[in-house]
Amino acid sequence: MALEKREINDEIWQAIIENDPAFDGIFYYAVETTGIFCRPSCKSRVPNKKNVRILKNAQDALLEQYRPCKRCRPDNLQLPDEEWIEQIATWIDTHYRESLTLEKMAELFHGSPYHLHRTFKRIKGVTVSDYTQQIRISEAMNLLSSNAKTVREIANLAGIPNASYFATLFHQKTGLTPTEYRQRKSTRGRNQHEPTS
Ligand SMILES: [Zn+2]
Repeated sequence: MALEKREINDEIWQAIIENDPAFDGIFYYAVETTGIFCRPSCKSRVPNKKNVRILKNAQDALLEQYRPCKRCRPDNLQLPDEEWIEQIATWIDTHYRESLTLEKMAELFHGSPYHLHRTFKRIKGVTVSDYTQQIRISEAMNLLSSNAKTVREIANLAGIPNASYFATLFHQKTGLTPTEYRQRKSTRGRNQHEPTS
């Protein structure tokens, strides 16, 4: 197997030799002969320079079929679980109107559905689906109290196009039907200040 010539500059090579953590996250290095990739700070044996391949990120290394080193866990460093889940939660916060499935999110965020499910639950304390439904119901509550759209329209806007499922879920979470909730809000609103048009 012919190895293509790759220039590794001195700074990078020095970082590898000295296991310099200052370079963690800046590049990763893979070793052709073992098929394993590491972060610069890895305490593993210094590889033969001619077998080393520099990669910008762990994702690239994984795409190239390198396996993450068990010792320095370069895949974890790039994205700790907390950060991964936070990214996903933030994404849900802005995409809850779309039809979301665990599979779709797992694919988008490069994990297995099972791993995503478990990790999300562990970190957030709720499942992805509960989290998403909670956002949808909160949004529905906002909409119900702030405008005159029909419950069906609001269900749609909140990302639950099935109106009867929406009503059931809404009741489950709030103890009120969407209409009751709206009435209650508008009564209270009138008592507190001038009705808005
Ligand atoms: Zn390593």
